[in-house]
Amino acid sequence: MEVDESLHYMQLPREVIVGKNVLGRVGEVCTRLGFTGTALVVSGPITYPLAGEPVAKSVTKAGLKVDHVIVKESTEHVANHVVETIKKAKASLVLGVGGGKDIDLAKLSSAKSKVPFMSVPTAASHDGIASPYASIKGGSRPYSVRAQAPVAILTDIDVIADSPYNLLAAGCADIVAKFTAVKDWQLAHKLKNEYYGDYAANLAMMSAKLVTKNAKEILKRNVEGVKTVVEALISCGVAMSIAGSSRPCSGSEHLFSHALDIVAGETSLHGERTGVGAILCAYLQGSNWEAIRTFLKEIGAPSTAKELNVSPEQLVRALMMAHSLRPERYTILGETGVAEAAAEKVARTTGVIG
Ligand SMILES: [Zn+2]
Repeated sequence: MEVDESLHYMQLPREVIVGKNVLGRVGEVCTRLGFTGTALVVSGPITYPLAGEPVAKSVTKAGLKVDHVIVKESTEHVANHVVETIKKAKASLVLGVGGGKDIDLAKLSSAKSKVPFMSVPTAASHDGIASPYASIKGGSRPYSVRAQAPVAILTDIDVIADSPYNLLAAGCADIVAKFTAVKDWQLAHKLKNEYYGDYAANLAMMSAKLVTKNAKEILKRNVEGVKTVVEALISCGVAMSIAGSSRPCSGSEHLFSHALDIVAGETSLHGERTGVGAILCAYLQGSNWEAIRTFLKEIGAPSTAKELNVSPEQLVRALMMAHSLRPERYTILGETGVAEAAAEKVARTTGVIG
């Protein structure tokens, strides 16, 4: 999708369904939205039999032809392969069924192919399940790029509740990171006169507040707890759609997370890294970093370098280089970044390194 940067462009989902036995409802949503022809299911090797097949069955019942492609990693190379598959299948709709990587691949490759995309997440590990942005490895930029918003989001609570708990905890950490992201956005507005949208900012903040308030329910993984996380992630995705940028959900803590990807590789989940980033960046912002750390500990998400499977040196290096990844995105890290001694002090004071 070509976006004229002088316009404020919002792309929002048409339908959002959160509840039980949702996989079997994908077909009726296709009918309601008027899809015909071929749908391509993009899924992972584990998620395909679990969720991809029931979705395919439901869509076939609705009268569409269904093809599928199994993806293992979210790289530029695999995204190009999915683009080819969409073309070959002459797909009129792409269904991302699976974890964050599967959704991101489906989102980016469908956008490149100018075909609508539906999001059917099997885990609630980050806000990409509903946002117009996708994070793909091996591209020219180490952060999320604009793709397109899903036309519909269908989230099966039982499937999410059955997924490994650390994925749900990572989703919570990605949500608590909105406290620092919104503060950074306000800072950029004040210092750089960057566009700031109160509505989008408040929507992201509300998600962070609701999730921190409901930690006990989330830990129990009951329907209410899982629903709180899923709805918060969807609200964050919608906040980005309304803002027309990832600003309300991605600030210095996300830059830190992307820097850690470069410094240490994939030793922990995206959400987990942004949670730890939020502790560090809240400290730098002079806000309540202790509350963020307490929440992460309570929910069972990492709050230290050790729990992210990175060394103290790698963590400090990531904090020092984070500002340089995206110079146009002004944050508390400033234009020159955090000096080594200061980065080490932040990490020690907040207990992120011992
Ligand atoms: Zn995120």
